[in-house]
Amino acid sequence: MTDVVVKRANAAQAAASVDLSGRTALVTGGASGIGRACARWLAAAGADVVIVDLDGPAAEGVAAEFGGQVRQADLSEPDSIDRLDVRADVIVNNAGRQHVAPIEQFPPEAFAQIMRLMVEAPFRLVRASLPGMYARGWGRVVNISSVHGLRASPFKAAYVTAKHALEGLSKVIALEGAPHGVTSNCVNPGYVRTPLVEQQIAAQAAAHNIAEDEVVDEVLLARTAIKRLIEPDEVAQLVGYLCSDAASFITGSSIVMDGGWSAH
Ligand code: NAD
Repeated sequence: MTDVVVKRANAAQAAASVDLSGRTALVTGGASGIGRACARWLAAAGADVVIVDLDGPAAEGVAAEFGGQVRQADLSEPDSIDRLDVRADVIVNNAGRQHVAPIEQFPPEAFAQIMRLMVEAPFRLVRASLPGMYARGWGRVVNISSVHGLRASPFKAAYVTAKHALEGLSKVIALEGAPHGVTSNCVNPGYVRTPLVEQQIAAQAAAHNIAEDEVVDEVLLARTAIKRLIEPDEVAQLVGYLCSDAASFITGSSIVMDGGWSAH
């Protein structure tokens, strides 16, 4: 078995030990990468999973694996979020994108769009579901932040700003939700093997005229002690743990899984 297959099997085994039956779980960006792994994990734990994604057909493909639902929507458009009408017990705020440019050349519209997608959408989705969570006395909000929620890198002004803002939102939800059985946490991965990163590897290899392996080892993982990318299933397993009853005292936290990057 390959390492990736073993990690998938480990995640599925852990999911089977958590009971989320009767809970509705909303996963944004669940058509791909980390969101897809989270959607699969939560479904394996028994949740009714709703995927919200820009890419409707890809989301349908994932949801078909476990009988989940799909809402096709552009989460950078506030009106389309308000039309979603999903009331969830678990929200995984995951949809995101990157734009790389020095600040003086950074397109203001790209900056604003990333803020709407990665900060305003989580706010609006949580805002709509909190009254139901409060009424039922239970809820889980997991925000897929990043090492870039805690550390900066040049040329990623919008992404780093958005992730830092998400960290703040997560803590406010934690404080307000605590009396109602609602927890809110951030998960902070380093580089995960997803299409978002694979595109960056290909672009950097072309830009620097070096092999893709060299980009991973010498550019992406330069500050990482463990020299490998994280698998989406490893992130999903941590997200799933945060949704379990075992994690009911963990709130307002940011849990770093970066192979030692931020230990420097
Ligand atoms: P991905 O590109 O594989 O998946 C992102 C998903 O979000 C896609 O399905 C895409 O269609 C959806 N999406 C993008 N824009 C959208 C919009 N406007 N409306 C609705 N859906 C939209 O990316 P990924 O690597 O799985 O990243 C998921 C999250 O994890 C992001 O928030 C990212 O910042 C974070 N993250 C990723 C890494 C990494 O190394 N890949 C590391 C740390 C944090």
